[in-house]
Amino acid sequence: MALLAGMLLIFMLSISSSVAVQTATAQLTSTVRSSLQQVNLVDGAFVTTDGFSFYQNGVSILIYSEAESLLAGQIPVGFTEIEPFENGTTRRVEAGSVRYLILDLWRPIGWEDGFWIRGLIEVADGSQTISPLLRIALVSLPVFMLLAILGSYGLVRRAFRPLENIIATAQSINEARDLSLRIGLPPGRDEFSRLADTFDQLFARLEQSFEAEKQFTADASHELRTPVSIIKGACEYAEKYDESPEDRQETISMIHRQADRMAVLITQLLSMTRLEQRTEIIRMTEVDLPELVRSLCQEQGWDQHRLHLSLPDTLPVRADSTLLSRLLRNLVENAFKYSGPDSPIWIRVARNEKEVLLSVEDRGIGIRQDQQEKVWQRFYQVDQSRGVEQDGTGLGLSIVQQIAAIHGGYMTLESVLGKGSCFCLHLPMEP
Ligand code: ADP
Repeated sequence: MALLAGMLLIFMLSISSSVAVQTATAQLTSTVRSSLQQVNLVDGAFVTTDGFSFYQNGVSILIYSEAESLLAGQIPVGFTEIEPFENGTTRRVEAGSVRYLILDLWRPIGWEDGFWIRGLIEVADGSQTISPLLRIALVSLPVFMLLAILGSYGLVRRAFRPLENIIATAQSINEARDLSLRIGLPPGRDEFSRLADTFDQLFARLEQSFEAEKQFTADASHELRTPVSIIKGACEYAEKYDESPEDRQETISMIHRQADRMAVLITQLLSMTRLEQRTEIIRMTEVDLPELVRSLCQEQGWDQHRLHLSLPDTLPVRADSTLLSRLLRNLVENAFKYSGPDSPIWIRVARNEKEVLLSVEDRGIGIRQDQQEKVWQRFYQVDQSRGVEQDGTGLGLSIVQQIAAIHGGYMTLESVLGKGSCFCLHLPMEP
């Protein structure tokens, strides 16, 4: 700032002194020329027009004879120089500390006679202009600098206060390990508000991810405890007692089943945690829904006699085909699991003005009204006394709901106990 102010001062000074010289030159030239018209020599006598003044517009007018002796006018007090005459040229002359501009004009009279008319104007010296300005600048500049420093310090402190908030929140999160803390700056368009908002989102995501991890650990340890203790018990029993080959085979099959169950549980848990945390890579492409249903029915080796498809020729949707296949597989496998050996299952694809619908309907055991909300919860299994072997995990429908949400859709369930159930995926036309 000081440098800029100094440069500005120098610039202004140089401009002002050159403007002063130009103005003085213009004034001198016009005054001397107009004076030339107003003075004359008549029969050796020097005459002026009425009202002629030897000092006009700051210009002293002097009249000299051909022999360069002063005829009329008053030489300015400070001007002691002897300056030779030069017709028509404006010059600068330093007389002591004062600077003058001089212009001489020769006024011929007849063939031999004539006189000189000389104009003198004092030009304000550069230093004269500079010194008061410089004095003002020298006094005011430090004051302005001080004000500017104090002002900008205050401004910067104010502007950086949100950053202090961000640091303080980050520190308390780190120290207290409390991920529920937020910076909570009021929304704004400046960088700090955006930074704080981004940090808050980051903290929310971190919290979500820690929660999911906590949940996963709790779920895994809780759910795996049962099959592990069954396996352990079976092994101990087999070690302790001499079992017949049939019993031994039975024990091995049981261990196998429990190990399978653990594998399914771990896969489903991982899958759900990834879906919840959105860490599963999702590839949205255009998928032909009826085609996806047809090929899945062929690949899965489901009982084709029980399956009834009601599909349009084609109906493209934007979806992740792997996730959508997983959703359909879960629904159809449940339909097989929870309905009689010969009962039919319908898979339908349809659309209305706003949604694409994919439904799986069975004539199975159905779900009681008060339990229909709960089946979407993780690990929820409708009471075990329904005659169906409960080898599920209770995670399938949670995963189904997650997948629907990822596609911007939702699930509905219609079911009547003892009659059957219909699970339906609603996908928006533009997910
Ligand atoms: P599971 O692995 O136990 O099948 P799900 O999350 O897929 O877990 O289902 C949760 C519960 O909802 C099941 O335990 C079952 O009681 C009930 N359920 C799911 N699908 C059906 C269906 N088609 N008919 C009747 N009950 C069902």
